[in-house]
Amino acid sequence: MGRVTGRSCIVTGAAQGIGRAIGEALLDEGADVCFADINGTKVVEVASENEARAKKYGGKVLSCTVDVTKRDQVAAMISQTVEAFGKLDVKFNNAGVNKPMNFLDVTEENWQFIMDINGLGVMIGMQEAAKQMIAQGTGGKIINTASIASRQGFDNVAPYCASKFAVVALTQSGARDLAKHKITVTGFAPGVVDTEMWEDVDRSLMEIGASSRPGEAMEEFAADILKGRVAQSSDITGTTTFLASIDSDYMTGQIVMIDGGMTLV
Ligand code: NAD
Repeated sequence: MGRVTGRSCIVTGAAQGIGRAIGEALLDEGADVCFADINGTKVVEVASENEARAKKYGGKVLSCTVDVTKRDQVAAMISQTVEAFGKLDVKFNNAGVNKPMNFLDVTEENWQFIMDINGLGVMIGMQEAAKQMIAQGTGGKIINTASIASRQGFDNVAPYCASKFAVVALTQSGARDLAKHKITVTGFAPGVVDTEMWEDVDRSLMEIGASSRPGEAMEEFAADILKGRVAQSSDITGTTTFLASIDSDYMTGQIVMIDGGMTLV
């Protein structure tokens, strides 16, 4: 029996990277998983590639196209999941974006784009999941993706850092507000994970002149990792499945660092 057998879970930003890995790890331990993403074509493929995995471990798989900043779409995703799996137990608010700019060049557009998805998207995701869990009366778990950028301001990514500090605030506020409904709110904070997001970040940093060759920025960050290497998504999923399981029932309002020892807080 897996740690999350029979649990109904939604993971946003699940068409690739960390979100996809979170969903697959949940399936490996018997959960029913809705893979949700704004990239509808890709998330349908991901779900269909995971049909056999779901069958093997006794779970179900679903895909959903959603823009996490649109409340009606988020509500529809939750309804679709409840219709398919019968309930909602666990909601991962994982979708996120970054677009580096030099501090003095940051535009309102850059700020709004990042804060909308990483901040407002998490707020709406928490609210809509909580409404469903309250209606069920069975409690639930909301799990937010924070970052090392939730703990320190880094240069060239000020709006991203602001948005990830916001994730900590939302996790703490949500934990306090939702405890009376037996809903826990936690988060996890990766350091540098080798995903397509980092490839985009790397390209942007070269475009703005903050690094001079592909991979340089990641190497500089990696130099400060006590574990001596950047993470793969599989380094993250032991913890995310734990946070979705009853083993973490007594945790709420906390962010778990999974950064190989980059930020010791
Ligand atoms: P990624 O770019 O590989 O994947 C992000 C996914 O989110 C994509 O599939 C994208 O289509 C989706 N998405 C973007 N906007 C969306 C929207 N409005 N609605 C729904 N889906 C949307 O990124 P990743 O590296 O897997 O990152 C996942 C999460 O982890 C993000 O919140 C990110 O900030 C965080 N994180 C990543 C790292 C890292 O080093 N990669 C480190 C710390 C935190």
